[in-house]
Formats: sequence, C-alpha cells, structure tokens
Amino acid sequence: MTDSSSHKERSLIRISFQEPSSKSTVLSNVVMTFEPAYFRLLQSGELAYRAEEATKRMSCCDLCGHACKVDRNSQKPGVCRTGSLARMSSFGPHLGEEDPLRGWRGSGTVFFTRCNLKCQYCQNYDISQSDAGQDVGAERLAAVMLELQAMGCHNINLVSPSHVVAAILSALLIAARAGLHLPLVFNTGGYDSLEALRLLDGIIDIYMPDMKYADEQTGLRYSHVKDYPAINQLALREMYRQVGDLALDWNGLATRGLLVRHLILPNNLAGTAFITRFLAEEISRDTYLNLMDQYRPSYHADQFPELNRPVSVEEYRIALGETRASGLWRLDRGGLY
Ligand code: SF4
Repeated sequence: MTDSSSHKERSLIRISFQEPSSKSTVLSNVVMTFEPAYFRLLQSGELAYRAEEATKRMSCCDLCGHACKVDRNSQKPGVCRTGSLARMSSFGPHLGEEDPLRGWRGSGTVFFTRCNLKCQYCQNYDISQSDAGQDVGAERLAAVMLELQAMGCHNINLVSPSHVVAAILSALLIAARAGLHLPLVFNTGGYDSLEALRLLDGIIDIYMPDMKYADEQTGLRYSHVKDYPAINQLALREMYRQVGDLALDWNGLATRGLLVRHLILPNNLAGTAFITRFLAEEISRDTYLNLMDQYRPSYHADQFPELNRPVSVEEYRIALGETRASGLWRLDRGGLY
C-alpha cells in the first residue's frame, strides 16, 4: 500500500494496520462497541427458529443453487455429498485474508470439506473435493467458534459454507448463548440459493461471495454448475440488500457489508469486464472488491489447455483497466490509483 494515495478509503485501511500504540485499549473499545447482527435474533428467539427451519429444509434440500431436493436428514446426499452434519477440515487464525478481515490477529477461519462447486482448477482441491476432515456436531462447531474468539481472531470466517448452513446456524445458537460476539463472514463460492440466504438475513454480518463467471457455459464447463451467472447475481443482490456496502470500524476492520472476490482467469474466461460492470451498475459503485491475480493451474486444470497457465501481466493490466472503467474504486490491497 503506497503512501501517495489521497483516497479516503485507502487511508482508513492503512491506518488500521499500523500497530496501535495501546492495542489492549483499542481491542476493548472495539469489543465494547460492536454488536454482531445475530444478537438481536438470539434475544428474540428468531435464531433458534432459523436453525430449526434450516434443518427442516435439509429434508428436501434447496440450501444452495443446485436445489437437489434430496433428504439429507436421512443421510441421502446431493451434489455436495454431505449429510446432516458438517465436515470440517481445519480451523485457525488466517493472516492471508483481505486486509479488513485479517487485521493484526487474523481472521478466524473454519474450512469446511466438500464444496458445492466442482471447480476443475481449485487450488484447495484437497479440502474442497475430498472427504478429508471430521464430521462435527453443533456443540463441537460452536466450541471451535469460541476457541477462535479466545485466540483473539477478529471474526469467524466460514469458508465454503453454502452446503452446511443448517449446521452453522445450530452451532451459532450454542456459541452465541455462550458468549460469541464476533462478526460472521460468509465466505462463499457464490452459488447460494435465496432460500438459504433468507434464513441468514440478520445473522451474517459480512458476505464475501465469489463472482466467478459471467457466462453460463463457462460455469458448467469449469465448475459443473448450471446457471452460475443467474444464480450468482441473484445471490449478490440479496446479500447486498441485507448488509449493504462494506463498513469498516475506526480501526479498519470490517464490521458489516459485502466484500466480493473475483479471480481473473487466463484468456478472459471469467468475464471480468461484465462482472465489474454488473457490480458497479447493479449492486453499488462502492462495492469493496478483491480483484485476484493469483491464478495458478491446479487440480484438473491440465485437462483444459486454455486454463493451463497463470494469468499474464498484460491480462492483469487489462482487468485493472476494465475495473477502472466500470467505476469501482474500493479495491483490496492498495486500490487502482
Ligand atoms: S446443499 Fe446444495 S448440493 Fe448439497 S444437497 Fe443441498 S442443494 Fe444439493
């Protein structure tokens, strides 16, 4: 992050990652003033109702864009190969996430196994496409959330959560009753159903969806999903309706809002110009965007010659130009200008 920027947003972020001279005072102030979205629903009893509703929905599952309608409560898995319990691969503080999430003590990530997408180039395929990990009940998942809080993490970052929404809500109910007070980050591939998102309304503080593709056939070919753009765009609209633009506290940490990730693919396969225009024109020009250039061929990418190389410097330069042309300006890691 350069010092030459006069941009207000970038100044906020830069300030946030200076080591506070009296960090304990800063942290205690943040804890005292921040109230996660789910507090109100916990107190009204609505959180318990949502957890029950999500569990019921698994009997004819429509909790993500696939809408398999299988009975997961009878352990009949759909595309996600997941029954009623979530499977967790690992958890811990993560310092590689976006600036407003990682802060100085890390984002409290929980990695769920078996993503609902089948991205043929996935860099985390050993988690997303395997059965690695352990099934966890609500009590164990709640204990993990509380452990991450005790470690000092700034938020609970649920990675690949779409297919385990019911398990998350059941665990949250227990964890919130036991004192969890961190914001929840819904870190998703963006193939989420409106049915699931409505259950999360007033519960999730920070939505962090991918926007992977602008073209339907591309989503089918590389991630084995139908109608990715349509479902993804509907989900983005709903997420934004719930939480709005990303808000940061005075310490630069995200407290609420939408943070979008877009991975640039070789040969413009992701459709960056369309996606950035959609965000600027249909969501908000103030959308916070992580425009990611770190694509490296992984997993089955060698079976697709057009995907089997990193993104070139020239391709990244073009993607930045398209983003600038769209009018978006809040970019993670330094911004456009
Ligand atoms: S979460 Fe998605 S993939 Fe899994 S069974 Fe439900 S609709 Fe199918």
